[in-house]
Amino acid sequence: MSRVDDVRRKLAEVGAGTLLVTAPANVRYLSGFTSPEDGVVVVTPDRALLLTDGRYTAQTAEESRLEVLISPNWEERLHELVGDTPLAVEAEHLSLQRFRRLTDRLGREPIATDALLAPLRLVKAEEEIALLDEAARITDAALAEVLPKLRPGVREIEIALELDRSMRMAGSDGSGFHIIVASGTRSAMPHGVASDKVIEAGDLVTIDFGAVYGGYHADMTRAIAVGPIAPELRRLFDAVLEAQEAALAAVAPGRTGRELDAIARDLLARHDLAAAFSHSLGHGTGLEIHEGPRLSSRSDDVLEPGMTVTIEPGVYLPGFGGVRIEDLAVVTDDGYRVLSKSPKGFVQV
Ligand code: ZN
Ligand code: ZN
Repeated sequence: MSRVDDVRRKLAEVGAGTLLVTAPANVRYLSGFTSPEDGVVVVTPDRALLLTDGRYTAQTAEESRLEVLISPNWEERLHELVGDTPLAVEAEHLSLQRFRRLTDRLGREPIATDALLAPLRLVKAEEEIALLDEAARITDAALAEVLPKLRPGVREIEIALELDRSMRMAGSDGSGFHIIVASGTRSAMPHGVASDKVIEAGDLVTIDFGAVYGGYHADMTRAIAVGPIAPELRRLFDAVLEAQEAALAAVAPGRTGRELDAIARDLLARHDLAAAFSHSLGHGTGLEIHEGPRLSSRSDDVLEPGMTVTIEPGVYLPGFGGVRIEDLAVVTDDGYRVLSKSPKGFVQV
């Protein structure tokens, strides 16, 4: 079955005949269009179209798997495409302003659906996993290339820029998110985006980044010691690595997000670090850096072959420091395969 057939099946479930797709990841998933922020997809009972404007005539001719409609204003064309069929929209993405305008134009309220297409993207096809493999390979290569530059006196932002440069030169579409390089006490910030801070001897540096290849996001975190580090930092590192390896080893079809999260959380609790693990264990990646399945203490998501997961426990002690270690894996028929291959044991540079 094609992706569009899957969409029509989903539409039937919510009693709609037509869908307006505005979430960029879904627009790209259905059409292949690599500038999905500037287009929408409309799926009707007998057509599936990509609507965008005149800037993209040549690009869509090359990229789009769907029939293309070039128009300066897609909202004006919508009515003739939709007719009287009930129209579903993506509530998680369509702005309230646009919802009101569509209501006025159609003379009726669209059906607001919640993450209607997300389930279709959960299990990756072989060609999607191949893109993720390449994104992870580029990510690993960038870390190997930049690691020699990690030394006292270098600013965090320089490391981030070097990683970005290396990934772009190797074919990455860009960085999937703001690169995290968090050194010294900044490593206690789970989301410590690279700053002006100068890296010093004795810092344990958290580096969290990932290439994007063909639209698909890799995601990896390593914690690297710059010179000898305090014994307490090393204790945190060893505990996180133990938790990461235990949770990763348990990845298999049938496991729930909640179970995997608990494995890491219970292990860190044995090291008196439960309270310091202040986020969830992981997430899926794909056309978005964060997508399903969710691996958290509240997640009933059940793993299936073809799903991707990050396993990324971390501990953070404000004013002191923190550690996170993250791998990207794909669920297989009998377990998992790790895509991120950079060494994750203790490394001191
Ligand atoms: Zn990450
Ligand atoms: Zn992540």
